[in-house]
Amino acid sequence: MNTECLFCNIANGHTDTAFLFENEDVVVFKDINPHAPIHLLIIPKRHIRSINDLTDEDRPILAELLMTAKEMAKRQQVAEDGYKLLFNVEYGGGQRVFHLHLHLMGGKKW
Ligand code: 5GP
Ligand code: ZN
Repeated sequence: MNTECLFCNIANGHTDTAFLFENEDVVVFKDINPHAPIHLLIIPKRHIRSINDLTDEDRPILAELLMTAKEMAKRQQVAEDGYKLLFNVEYGGGQRVFHLHLHLMGGKKW
């Protein structure tokens, strides 16, 4: 854990952020500044800075993030209607929190 990282602190339960889902590897919580009626963040518990830092050994965690997103979309009842999944990568890609996270946005017409 990177003690200076906001999402490490959230993932480790050091904030009052409520989890919608948690397992050994990932946690899911609501985005504090939602861009859609449903806007969740799916993050690995382990600190990874961005997509650029993924290694071959990280293939399972990437699959876990995506499969968790699929399951959360179903639970939040946006699966059938459709939703967006987004990774912002580094500053130029809009990333502002440098702990890997997958945005799930749904419940609105784009
Ligand atoms: P990024 O721009 O890095 O892809 O996305 C970071 C996201 O984290 C933003 O959508 C922002 O609203 C969200 N965020 C930033 N700080 C917090 C926080 O303390 N709690 C929660 N729940 N979301 C946060
Ligand atoms: Zn972190």
